[in-house]
Amino acid sequence: MNALQIIAKKQAGNELSGSEIEYFITNYVSGHIPDYQMAALLMAIYYQEMSTEETYFLTRIMLESGAVLDNSSILQPKADKHSTGGVGDKVSVILAPLVACLGVSVPMISGRALGHSGGTLDKLESIPGFDVRLSVSDAIKKLRKNGLVFMAQTEELVPADRRIYALRDSTSTVRSVPLITASILSKKLAENIDALVLDVKIGKGAFFTRQEYALKLSDRLLAVSEKFGLKTSILFTDMDQPLGRSVGNWLEIKESLETMQGNGPSDLNDVTIALGAEMLVQTRIERHYDKAIRLVEQTLKSGAAYEKFLKVVKSQGGKVKYIERPSQYPTSRLVHGIKSERSGYVSSIDALKIGVLAMDVGAGRIMVNDQIDPKAGVFLNKKVGEYVERGEVLATVHTDMNIDVAALNARIWDAFQIVRRKVTAPDPVLGYAVKDGKCKWPPY
Ligand code: URA
Repeated sequence: MNALQIIAKKQAGNELSGSEIEYFITNYVSGHIPDYQMAALLMAIYYQEMSTEETYFLTRIMLESGAVLDNSSILQPKADKHSTGGVGDKVSVILAPLVACLGVSVPMISGRALGHSGGTLDKLESIPGFDVRLSVSDAIKKLRKNGLVFMAQTEELVPADRRIYALRDSTSTVRSVPLITASILSKKLAENIDALVLDVKIGKGAFFTRQEYALKLSDRLLAVSEKFGLKTSILFTDMDQPLGRSVGNWLEIKESLETMQGNGPSDLNDVTIALGAEMLVQTRIERHYDKAIRLVEQTLKSGAAYEKFLKVVKSQGGKVKYIERPSQYPTSRLVHGIKSERSGYVSSIDALKIGVLAMDVGAGRIMVNDQIDPKAGVFLNKKVGEYVERGEVLATVHTDMNIDVAALNARIWDAFQIVRRKVTAPDPVLGYAVKDGKCKWPPY
C-alpha cells in the first residue's frame, strides 16, 4: 500500500479500509506523507465523502495520534460543548465558565478560526498572555483547580487534527461531513468526557447553509459518537445573521464579558442558555430541562461566570487588567461607523459577508501563517428586527489597515437588508436533533 494508491482509491469513490486510513494518517503525522498528498486525499474525501464506518476509523486514528486526558482524579461529571463554526460565535467562552459554576467539569479543546468562521482559541489569545498551549499534566491541574480549562490541540493531544485542520483551511476542504465529524469528535473524545453537546449551525454564515446538510452532519456526528459510546446531543441554531453584535476576537471577548455579567444580547443569551441547560441534563446535574434553563439563566444573571472566567484568565497567564477594565485595551487606528442610507427595519444581515469582511480587515487568516489583529472586526449596531433611521449607524468596522472607506460602506450596505414592514427578531434556537436526520423542538 502507498499514499498514491489510497488517494486514487478514494478519488474513484471507493471505501477505504481502517488500515488504509491508519497508514495515511499516521504517516502524515510522522512527516512521511507530505502536505500535498494529504491535501489531495482531503479533496478526494470532500468530493467522494466517506461512509459512517470510514468516518469512525478516521476519527479513531486521529484520536489515537495523541494522548487522552486522564481526568480520573476529577469526581464531577465531565462535559463539553462544540460548535460547527459560525460568525460571532463566542458561546464557548461564556458557556464553559457558566456550567463550571454549576458543577460540570469542562476540559475544552478548541480550534482556531477556519475560513470566515471564528475560533475560540484566537478569541482567548486576544487577551494578552492567555496561554492555550498547555501540556496534558498542566491542563489536568488547571481543570482540577478551576473546574475548566481552555486548550489547543498540541503535539500531545490530537496532533492529527491540529495539522489537518490547518491544511483544510488553506485547501477549501472544510465543508465536508466526514472531515468535520472526525475533527470535532477526535478532539472531544481526547477530553475523556461523559457527555457532549453540539451546536450545529445552519444559515448563510455556517459551513452548511441548508437544513438538509446540517441534518446529514448531525446524523453522522450522532452515529460516530454512538460507536465510541459517547453520549452526544445536538442543538441546531441560526447562523443566517452573526450571533450577538460583535465579530472579531477582542470585540467578542468584550461582548462575552458583558454577557457573563448579565448584559448580553438576547440571541447570544438564548443560545448559551439552551446549550447550558442541555449540558446540565446530559450530566444529570438537573433532570428537567425547564428547571435547567432557569438555573442557567439565574447563574448567567448573577455574574458568577464572570468571576470564574477571571480566575481562569489569571490561571492561564492572561492579563486580567483588560478583563476588569476592557476600556484599557488598545483600539484600532480606524473605527468607522457605516450609516444607513434609508430608514426601516433590518430584515437580514448576511453572516457570511460580515465574516469575510471581518477576516479582510484583520480578524481572521487568509493564509495559514497570517497574523491575526486581535482588535479588528465588525460591531453590529443594528440586528435583525431592529429599526434604523436614515443616517444612523448600522455597523462599526475596527481595523488598522489602510482601507477604502467607500468600499467598506458598500460592503456593509450589501450585507444588510432594510425593509419598510415591521420585522420580528428570529428565534436563534431552531431545533434538537433526533436520529435518522430528524429534528424537533422543544427537546423534551
Ligand atoms: N470545528 C472543528 O473543530 N472542526 C471542524 O472541522 C469544524 C468545526
